[in-house]
Amino acid sequence: MPKLSIRDLPLNDHHIFMRVDFNVPLENGLVMDDTRIRETLPSIEYALRHGARLILASHLGRPKGKPNPHMSLKPVAERLRMLLDQELTRGENVGFCPDCVGLEAEEMAGKLEKGQTLLLENLRFHVEEEANDEEFAKQLADLADFYVNDAFGAAHRAHASTAGITKFIQKSAAGLLMEKELEYLGKALQNPERPFLAILGGAKVGDKIDVIQNLINKVDTLLIGGGMAYTFLKAQGQQVGKSLVEEDKVDLARQLLQQANNRKLKFMLPVDHIAADKIDANAVVRTIGNGQPIPDNMMAVDIGPNTIEAFSEEISGARTIVWNGPMGVFEIAPFARGTFKIAQAVAENAAATSIVGGGDSVSAVHAAGVADKITHISTGGGASLEFLEGKKLPGVEALTDKR
Ligand code: AMP
Repeated sequence: MPKLSIRDLPLNDHHIFMRVDFNVPLENGLVMDDTRIRETLPSIEYALRHGARLILASHLGRPKGKPNPHMSLKPVAERLRMLLDQELTRGENVGFCPDCVGLEAEEMAGKLEKGQTLLLENLRFHVEEEANDEEFAKQLADLADFYVNDAFGAAHRAHASTAGITKFIQKSAAGLLMEKELEYLGKALQNPERPFLAILGGAKVGDKIDVIQNLINKVDTLLIGGGMAYTFLKAQGQQVGKSLVEEDKVDLARQLLQQANNRKLKFMLPVDHIAADKIDANAVVRTIGNGQPIPDNMMAVDIGPNTIEAFSEEISGARTIVWNGPMGVFEIAPFARGTFKIAQAVAENAAATSIVGGGDSVSAVHAAGVADKITHISTGGGASLEFLEGKKLPGVEALTDKR
């Protein structure tokens, strides 16, 4: 059932509690990357333009239920002041409350005027947030009339500010960023333009089994690279040297290959490899050609040139592309080529809807300089992965149904 949107709420003059994802990297009290803050600006500015009295709340880091000055959202309030359209806020500052509940929060929220914003301190300074404590959720809810969730990155967690709060507030709606995420990921899974191709990579098969299992029933082509490919290659009886293999997942990998075969989808694994004697920029490196065994003392650290070509060819013909996980140890420059080439191939297919999720693949499209050519870059690594697994996200389920 579709969920209410911020556009469905009577914002004017009302107190709006907006859960955002301001979990940004801080260094010495400075925001090092404000992407997540900027991604939320459309919802924030929409609410202010419509006369809301806006209360923003987020988590930052893992303070484990205790106040921690290194994880304070105060520097985020300062950055938000700089980013917000000055005309919109009529030069007024974004207020900051040193706690997310309690007397001060109630007073500061109560005094908010139309078009003003108050950022609350880190929700996770209270252990009750992650415990989804009812009393705490109620205290958050009491600050406002309506609730908006724009924190897609936290939607796979049932916490007080993402799920519990909705029981104590009149109506709960999705913010504009949340809507955009659900629209792109939802359409890809439910009604994709075909051919639908998924690219999965990264270290562990174990982490992505559920995604593979769900996607096997939906995609036309599945490209597997990165460390996780070697459990599959081992299952096919290939010699993979000391490449990353999850021994306890080899049988499962064999079953997945069988399933893919039964469904007649294209399930492509690397055919050649870049192998190194260790994961280090100064390692001895060799290209292992098609069908050649990886020597016992070497491990695959990237996909080889023939794999890049074969994968790129498939990518160029797709109409929907979902990518999660790097093709190699891309943090180390000599092993980054495969990941960057795949990023370029995805970007070059202008006819496809391309969706990139997961921290590493997102950094790869930025590092490759092609981020602006990707249709949708997901802001939620864990949340997008759970969505691709076909799971329901508690932060989305808790929102009010649109009738
Ligand atoms: P994940 O968090 O599962 O998406 O994995 C991301 C990590 O996988 C990155 O840090 C990569 O360095 C790593 N990775 C990718 N390919 C390989 C490989 N062939 N061998 C070892 N690690 C890899």
